[in-house]
Amino acid sequence: MNSPAHGRLIDGKAIAAQVLAEVREDVAELRAQGLQPALAVVLVGEDPASQVYVRNKVLRAEEAGIRSIEHRLPAQTEQATLLALIERLNDDAEVHGILVQLPLPPHIDENPVLQAIDPAKDVDGFHSDNVGGLSQGRAVLTPCTPAGCLRLLKQTCGELAGKHAVVIGRSNIVGKPMAALLLQADCTVTVVHSRSHDAAALCRQADIVVAAVGRPRMIDASWLKPGAVVIDVGINRIEEHGRTRLVGDVDFASALPLVSAITPVPGGVGPMTIAMLMHNTVSAARQQHISHVAQAAATETACPTTC
Ligand code: NDP
Repeated sequence: MNSPAHGRLIDGKAIAAQVLAEVREDVAELRAQGLQPALAVVLVGEDPASQVYVRNKVLRAEEAGIRSIEHRLPAQTEQATLLALIERLNDDAEVHGILVQLPLPPHIDENPVLQAIDPAKDVDGFHSDNVGGLSQGRAVLTPCTPAGCLRLLKQTCGELAGKHAVVIGRSNIVGKPMAALLLQADCTVTVVHSRSHDAAALCRQADIVVAAVGRPRMIDASWLKPGAVVIDVGINRIEEHGRTRLVGDVDFASALPLVSAITPVPGGVGPMTIAMLMHNTVSAARQQHISHVAQAAATETACPTTC
């Protein structure tokens, strides 16, 4: 692998700050054209972790100059009420991005809710139109965590073409879109999951490892090829030496001496997820503006103001 641009530790906070600086510039440019990107964040219930995530997203949006609109609904909200809110947000031309914070309370079916979001405003990239577009290699809104991982990899490795990437985990939110993005970047991609035979042996072949499993420190040095680049998506809360700690899916201490670069937890992938959400919101706003202008021009051609 090329020597990493950021040393052995991939500094997610610093790269996220770069992304946010780019977003701020884009927002300033759009505002100069009279367009203020706006993100609607919908939270149902009082899940403490979700409340923290929503607060952080709203804060980052404000820092980037993006207008944020919060909708906090009680835990007992009916699905029909949530769907009606999404419909209103879809129809609101002043709202460019819609994010429904997951998980939803158990009585609400997640899939119809995510499918109700206008794909053009689907800044999480979970609508099936965007999922399909990603697998076809079209420029669509892409799930934020894997998009953030790709950015970290591009800045760390430079050219990705021809590298063997092993993605551990196949969730719809991380593993599958990550594999699609790496394939689009011309990597050779292997996806490992709970039914894979000898996952460690598969992983030892990888130039790039993306771990998205949700099992604390499962991937240790014995899983890794010397010089591999490791992206640790996992966020696991464990009790250790009498205190609560956040650790990744990779055993950082044993991996660090072997790999050429690795993300820490926290401070690796986490900050990138929010930064890519802001990036997606600005892309969505720009795209909707372009469509709106094109539509207005088509209407004008079909029916000039004199008609
Ligand atoms: P899921 O639980 O949805 O998926 C976990 C995946 O890991 C599944 O595909 C599962 O396989 C696979 N898996 C489980 N055990 C093994 C094993 N022993 N060997 C190989 N594969 C295994 O999790 P998510 O994808 O949603 O999240 C993964 C981790 O990433 C979590 O720790 C989560 O907190 C974190 N996360 C972090 C984010 C960030 O911003 N940093 C954002 C999103 C998630 P199978 O399909 O066969 O069951």
